Amino acid sequence: MKIMTIYAHPADTITNCGGTLALHAERGDEVVALIVSHGGRIHANKYAEEWRKDDPDDTVATADLDDIVANKKDELERAAGIIGISKIITLDHEDTYATVQEDMVEQIAEQIAAEQPEIVIADHPRNPAYFDPHAVATGMALAALARAGTYLRNLDGRDEVPVRQVFLTGLPVYNLDALSLNGLRNDCYVDITDVVGTKLAAMDQFVSQGYHGVFARKLVESYNGEAGRAAGVNFAEAFVRLYNETHQHLPVTDAALATDPLTRHIAYSSVNLRGTYPVP
Ligand SMILES: [Zn+2]
Repeated sequence: MKIMTIYAHPADTITNCGGTLALHAERGDEVVALIVSHGGRIHANKYAEEWRKDDPDDTVATADLDDIVANKKDELERAAGIIGISKIITLDHEDTYATVQEDMVEQIAEQIAAEQPEIVIADHPRNPAYFDPHAVATGMALAALARAGTYLRNLDGRDEVPVRQVFLTGLPVYNLDALSLNGLRNDCYVDITDVVGTKLAAMDQFVSQGYHGVFARKLVESYNGEAGRAAGVNFAEAFVRLYNETHQHLPVTDAALATDPLTRHIAYSSVNLRGTYPVP
C-alpha cells in the first residue's frame, strides 16, 4: 500500500500523523510526503528568538531565506528518516499564499498521478474563510485529487488515479459518539503508543521552529493524549474519513472487543511520557 501525505509545511506531516506513518512504514507500506511550501516564513522561531538576545549570533541572525529553507529541509530529511518516510516531495512555494492557486493544484495533481497512492492524508480544512495555510493546502489537495481522478489518456497522456480513501487530520473534536455536536468529530483513531518515542525523536529534529524538546512532549501528552483518551489508549492520532466505507458485514474493531470499560481510564493513563522519553 502507498500513502501520500499532503501538508502545507515541513513539520505538519510529523505532528499530525508521524506515529501512524511510522506504523505503516514498519508494516512495509510506502510513505511519500508532499510539502507544499518551504515554511521559511511561518515557522522561523529560532531566527526571531536570536534577534531578541543581547548579543545575537551572526550566523543565525543574518541567515537569509535560502539558509532558513535549507536548514528546514535538513530537519525534515532527518525526521523522515526516523519515521520511515521513503520519499519527500517539496514544491517549495512561498508560505504566503492566501487562496487556492490553480498552478499549485496542477502540480499536486501531477505528483498524485506520478505516485498513485491508495491513501492520501491531509489537514482537515475546518473552514473556508479564516486564513489558514493548512486549510488552503487541503483545498488545493482536494482539487488536485479531483483533477487526478479525471485524467484521461486521450487528453492528458495519463490515466485517472483512483485514490481509495482520504484521512483528514487536525480536527480538534474528540466526541466519544456520533450524535454530539451534530456528528462533527474524528471518527477514526490509530493507537501510536508503541511508536510515540519515534514520533518524539522526529519532532526533536525541528529545532528551527521550536518543536523539539519540551514542546514535542507537551504536544504529544496533550494532543495525542486527548486523542488517546477518546480512543481508549495512551496516545493516538485522530482522523476524519473523507469517503464512506463499505464492509462485508458490520465492523467491530479488535480494540472495541478488547476494551474493559471499568479499567479503561487506568490502562490509557499508564505511560509516563516525560519519564520514558526525556528531553535529549
Ligand atoms: Zn504548518
